[in-house]
Amino acid sequence: MIIDCHTHCYPADIAAQPRAWAEAHGELHWADLVAPIGRKSIQGWAGPEEFLAAMDAAGVDRAVLLGWYWQHESTCRWHNEVIAEWVRTAPERFIGFASILPNENVLAQLAAAESLGLCGVGELHPGVQGFDSQSKYWRTMAQWCAQHDWPVNCHATAEDGKDHPLAIATPLKDYLRMAQHAPALKLILAHWGGGLPLREGVHLPANIYVDCAASPLLYPDSPVRRVIDAIGAERVLYGSDYPLRLYPRQQLQAEMTRFLASIRQDSTLSPTERSAILGQNMNRLLPR
Ligand SMILES: [Zn+2]
Repeated sequence: MIIDCHTHCYPADIAAQPRAWAEAHGELHWADLVAPIGRKSIQGWAGPEEFLAAMDAAGVDRAVLLGWYWQHESTCRWHNEVIAEWVRTAPERFIGFASILPNENVLAQLAAAESLGLCGVGELHPGVQGFDSQSKYWRTMAQWCAQHDWPVNCHATAEDGKDHPLAIATPLKDYLRMAQHAPALKLILAHWGGGLPLREGVHLPANIYVDCAASPLLYPDSPVRRVIDAIGAERVLYGSDYPLRLYPRQQLQAEMTRFLASIRQDSTLSPTERSAILGQNMNRLLPR
């Protein structure tokens, strides 16, 4: 069972004109990342059929469709409807997580997402969405997710500036406080947790997991062995960031095969570690 725990989905009309759409909706950070002015975008796009074809080609059984760290609640709610619609087209293949803005309506947002059949939260971004470990609404959300067994995926950036030039930093140390404050919460830090597992002197609470989304863009030499040695294979999750183009020089279209093959063929991994990372761990984290 191979589960890609970190993908994104957007409707075709947005793919056609991402910047115009984002400006009309006040989602300027997303516009800067996905449709930057004066630079080529590495964002790829895929409708549900292309998405499923990419999964079939790579041998991916299931994919978590993540929301985005939108700056407006209205965009979050709209995106959750889109995600739910995709899940309805292929409920055996797609798993939907919710876009949530931790604000005064956070419980209503979570209830709406639950009624749409979504089963987790993310991707969130404290810096872009304006919350931290002390925020009342984050804490309300974390408690709700812990009670409902919903994992939460948060974007994490490396602090040494290797990320996207327009990226906004994520507070890595504050993620430790978020995890400590809600020990029953399953907190997934994306993009190798911004390198947090590899930092000397950092103890990662047991409820923090990391995914490897966008790894080829961020780490030309895969850190998978080092991360497993630091925190154990049971806390490492395979995720791609599809339909981002992870090898922009070689890939004109988004696809899932190449990055997955690099993990399948990584001779430093034991068969047990490989199957844990590629699906078993995420399968265990999903709500029953
Ligand atoms: Zn991310």
